Amino acid sequence: MKSDKEKLKKNKNKDDIRLIEEGYITIIGGPCAIESWEQLDATAKVIKDLGLLFMRGGAYKPRTSPYSFQGLGEKGLKYLKEINNKYGLKTVTEVTDTENVEIIADNVDVLQIGTRNMSNFELLKKVGRVANERNKKVILKRGWASSIREWLLAVEYITLKGNTEVVLCERGIRTFETSTRFTLDLSAVPVIKKLSKLPIIIDPSHAVGQSDLVIPMSRAAIAVGADGLIVEAHISPSQALCDGQQSLNAKELSELVRQVRNIASINEKKIR
Ligand code: PEP
Ligand code: MN
Repeated sequence: MKSDKEKLKKNKNKDDIRLIEEGYITIIGGPCAIESWEQLDATAKVIKDLGLLFMRGGAYKPRTSPYSFQGLGEKGLKYLKEINNKYGLKTVTEVTDTENVEIIADNVDVLQIGTRNMSNFELLKKVGRVANERNKKVILKRGWASSIREWLLAVEYITLKGNTEVVLCERGIRTFETSTRFTLDLSAVPVIKKLSKLPIIIDPSHAVGQSDLVIPMSRAAIAVGADGLIVEAHISPSQALCDGQQSLNAKELSELVRQVRNIASINEKKIR
């Protein structure tokens, strides 16, 4: 067992950029799925130019239909590693199986657990162990049919052995409403702030499912106290192999950053 002092020292490592930092709003942008080196590289350039630090990109895609594009797998992970080397951006990708946790941890900085796996306790335990050993961060999305209590208990499977940085992500829950893909539960933000010390970010893209609703809900998320956003962006949304209808193009992503910066400044927070 490591003492608290030793744990703290580990976190102070120079290279160790936390996902959420006091005084900042973290915006993670990038495509739903990595499709090619050219697509990822062009997106990374946009994200770097906007002054953001984190980039997302799915390599293993948990698709509703088995006939949809399933992702580039290992090749996608190599591209994320190259993006990190070339631009210094920290990378985020989803772990879908206990089998791919190690290889993902070899190549990226942040391991994302998707809504479909929030209650996959063997996966949570493994991600917790690997993330703790290799000093990786974890984003735990809320199950679309999970209560806040269930979500917070799921975190404990990850942190059972170690002091991994875990960030919660509200991404919409299932309700009777069909105008949006899911219903974004923004009240989860103040509820989480009341119940726990964990940071919480919002994924407006999967919640609303339509690109024109992403900016207004991002503004609302920051206004209600979220610590960051994870947003789908694509260099050419109409050509995207996955979730193009909810992806922002470069101009829209830049507009999102501009508007969110204004809201964040009310609480004297900066964007990163
Ligand atoms: C994703 O972020 O790529 C994703 C599949 O999200 P979710 O798990 O929220 O559906
Ligand atoms: Mn997606």
